[in-house]
Amino acid sequence: CGIVGYIGPEQASTFLMDGLSKLEYRGYDSAGIAVYDGTQIHVEKSVGRLANLEKKLESNQLIGNLGIGHTRWATHGRPSDVNSHPHTDCSGDFVVVHNGIIENYMHLKEKLIEKGHIFVSETDTEVVAHLVEEYYKGDFEAAVKQVLSEIEGSYALVFMTKHEPDKIICTKQDNPLVIGLGEGENFIASDIPAIINRTRRTYILSDGELAVVTKDSVWVMNRQGVPITKKVFEVHWDA
Ligand code: GLU
Repeated sequence: CGIVGYIGPEQASTFLMDGLSKLEYRGYDSAGIAVYDGTQIHVEKSVGRLANLEKKLESNQLIGNLGIGHTRWATHGRPSDVNSHPHTDCSGDFVVVHNGIIENYMHLKEKLIEKGHIFVSETDTEVVAHLVEEYYKGDFEAAVKQVLSEIEGSYALVFMTKHEPDKIICTKQDNPLVIGLGEGENFIASDIPAIINRTRRTYILSDGELAVVTKDSVWVMNRQGVPITKKVFEVHWDA
């Protein structure tokens, strides 16, 4: 339902939690964040209000400058801690948050289980994390593109991996996603109110576009990898 992402010099969790609170008006049943600490990605998530997640974070602070977060409105799998996003592959090295529905997830899940993947949640989203791990052969962008050629449905998706911790990759189809352009830092969100007090310069992604976001750059392309020149959209209104 709500998505946020951060890459830059600051503690990612600060923006992630603030951004998610700005998206609360959309409604949600659970929330979670994932942060890379320089060695590993750590995930904390909780069913219920953001306050429940905040409480968990008090005893398990997620330290690091790269992270993604999500508030969920369950479509596949009841609201629960395990069904909350972010979702990971078996190793925990690949992490994803997702708005929307992966229509062909059952078929993909069966194929992945045959290959030895072990699923922990009932969600459609978890297949995406396992798929990106399955396809990763040293090129994160290539792996994500291969995932997009397999999945059907509607989505805003944001990916990170500890194997390439200098970037976040995001994409959308029939669900909104914006990138907030900062100075030496960049922000990702499903809606402008989440980023408006950090930057007013944005790229609004269109369906089928994929962005590779580092702290200093944003590369937008189509799913075939053809570069797309985006116009900066300046937000003049207040949230
Ligand atoms: N279909 C996903 C789920 O049920 C995402 C729901 C959402 O958009 O929050 O976990």
